[in-house]
Amino acid sequence: MGAQAVSYQLLLQVREGLRLEIGALGPCRLPAGLYVYTGSARRGLEARIARHRRREKPRRWHIDWLTTHPAVEILAVLRSTLPECELNRATAGEIPVPGFGASDCRTGCGAHLKWIGP
Ligand SMILES: [Zn+2]
Repeated sequence: MGAQAVSYQLLLQVREGLRLEIGALGPCRLPAGLYVYTGSARRGLEARIARHRRREKPRRWHIDWLTTHPAVEILAVLRSTLPECELNRATAGEIPVPGFGASDCRTGCGAHLKWIGP
């Protein structure tokens, strides 16, 4: 038995450049390419991941604007025992939308969505 996973990453493919109004973030531009989104759920990790995989749902978190978009696909899901911010900061990439997924972040990540390349 290993330590229990508390965080996860979604590897996302965005097939075309997107311009979206994402909740309180307002207008956002996301270039096409591969993205990594990092989140956590200390309880109910699998339920959270299953929710991300559903296309039909009310949009609640920033990531919901991507996972409900027809041009966006979840390619892979990784699970980790690292705290989400540590995992996020260990992931290379650019921040296309400051604040994305980081409303509750107190450790200065900047965003929990990173663009890792075209
Ligand atoms: Zn963070």
